[in-house]
Amino acid sequence: MKFGTKAIHGGLKPDESTGAIMTPIYQTSTYIQDGIGNNRGYEYSRTQNPTRHALEKNIASIENGKHGACFGSGLAAIDCIIKMLNPGDEVISTNDLYGGTFRLFTSIFEKYGIKFHFVGMNDTSAVKAEVNARTKLIWVETPTNPMMNLVDIEAMADVAKSAGALLAVDNTFATPYLQNPLDLGADLVMHSVTKYLGGHSDVVMGALVTSDDIIAKEIYRIQNSSGAVTAPMDCFLVLRGIKTLHLRMDCHCSNGERVAKYLASHPKVDKVYWPGFEDHPNHDIALKQMRGFGGMISFSLIGDRLDDAHEVVSKTKVFALAESLGGVESLIGHPATMTHGAIPKEERIKIGISDSLIRLSVGVEDIEDIIDDLKQALA
Ligand SMILES: *Cc1c(COP(=O)(O)O)cnc(C)c1O
Repeated sequence: MKFGTKAIHGGLKPDESTGAIMTPIYQTSTYIQDGIGNNRGYEYSRTQNPTRHALEKNIASIENGKHGACFGSGLAAIDCIIKMLNPGDEVISTNDLYGGTFRLFTSIFEKYGIKFHFVGMNDTSAVKAEVNARTKLIWVETPTNPMMNLVDIEAMADVAKSAGALLAVDNTFATPYLQNPLDLGADLVMHSVTKYLGGHSDVVMGALVTSDDIIAKEIYRIQNSSGAVTAPMDCFLVLRGIKTLHLRMDCHCSNGERVAKYLASHPKVDKVYWPGFEDHPNHDIALKQMRGFGGMISFSLIGDRLDDAHEVVSKTKVFALAESLGGVESLIGHPATMTHGAIPKEERIKIGISDSLIRLSVGVEDIEDIIDDLKQALA
């Protein structure tokens, strides 16, 4: 099956009791048992729920994996992965990381004796230098937020394999339409479903996918034991969202390309960070592992003044000033004062988040309106 067909049908079947073509919202906490020890496959909705089960199978299908698991947020899904580790275990992670992931690793899990090393993953030798007998997990995020750096997933899979560690990839920015980490050698894929998979800015959810039966068993054990599950209504909304993922992503990609090229030619714009440009430092990795370049773009302004950036983000009308990304509507944000405001300026500048850096999540509105909006805001 090709992608669009999987998005619509993968892992799904019409409701057996009624023939309803859309998966019903099984808004129930418990299930009647025909006798003691004799249930119909469902006992309690923390453990399993038919609407969630359908979504888990659907997400596994579009990621070319065998098992899926859905959580109450992207961070709850990451939390589950780290709970597979033991005190004394070590993790090697990208240094250019989603802020919430960094906070989870350092402010929650370090105190339970798990050690995290943050390295630039463009340099495979820097990753290898951190490997030791306690290395149990390599954590990759690609493309990264907001600098749009890419990590070579196949190269990291090789490092993980020879270290005897698992490789997990946060595939939120690329989506399964543009990139499939399991096919490139990863053991686990994680999504903030909140973003492109949900796609309509109405749900917070996370997901994990793996093809390894033993890892899957462990994930389900932790999901049930820790209880960070997602609700049936939210699963229904995401099942609906995924049905158009391929259509939305084609539009995000083509609108993204038009916006990136427009910004690159604008006299007030300094740098544009978008992996589709031939001079992007990781363009070769994009060509190797991605099927498109997506709708996420960052750019800085000539003169690099904070006030100029604040003026631009306050003037847009199609682009709404907001956190998050991946919805049908265009969003604009200022990382230095919003998502990355907690990072000391020196650190922030080191990873490229300058004062005037602006991040766009290019939506699927008409491209003429999107460009006109940026034109008037930059004028
Ligand atoms: C939003 C995001 C997360 C966290 O997901 P939530 O659903 O907000 O918990 C993790 N990684 C990336 C890349 C994200 O954009």
